Amino acid sequence: MHRMRRWSVRNARWLKKLYHGIENALTLCHPLFERVGYQRLDKSFLAIEKVTKGLLIDSQSCGQCIVGFTGLSCPMNCPKTMRNGPCGGVRADGKCEVKPEMDCVWVMAWEGNQQLGEKEYPIQFVQPALNNQLIGTSAWLREVRNRKAVDNEI
Ligand code: SF4
Repeated sequence: MHRMRRWSVRNARWLKKLYHGIENALTLCHPLFERVGYQRLDKSFLAIEKVTKGLLIDSQSCGQCIVGFTGLSCPMNCPKTMRNGPCGGVRADGKCEVKPEMDCVWVMAWEGNQQLGEKEYPIQFVQPALNNQLIGTSAWLREVRNRKAVDNEI
């Protein structure tokens, strides 16, 4: 899995575009999702996310995905679940303080950000604290609902 993590970070640019494309397509399905019921769909979407995102980025299904900001490096793979940059213990060779056999997810996040080719590095945006109640729910469906909520406010 660690090898796939590295591959995804190296290919962060087009993977991020693909990720957003999926979210855009799902947003178009919002009326259908509403009719069926988001709650009823959550388990099915979570299962799809576990397979796809699990394979590509070793996603831990936190339900509040921020890999678009972290260069496709899932911060939930950090043993300390740091969501706003690395702890103070990153080793000189970029390996994790707690698990020296793996690269620090935040070193990888920085590498992924450099691959994105964007004017600003999204890694610089401060992320909200992890909401434990959302762990094990679909991040895609949440993103669709968040987008529609913003649309309705405008
Ligand atoms: S070194 Fe990196 S991956 Fe390891 S605990 Fe610290 S922030 Fe997390």
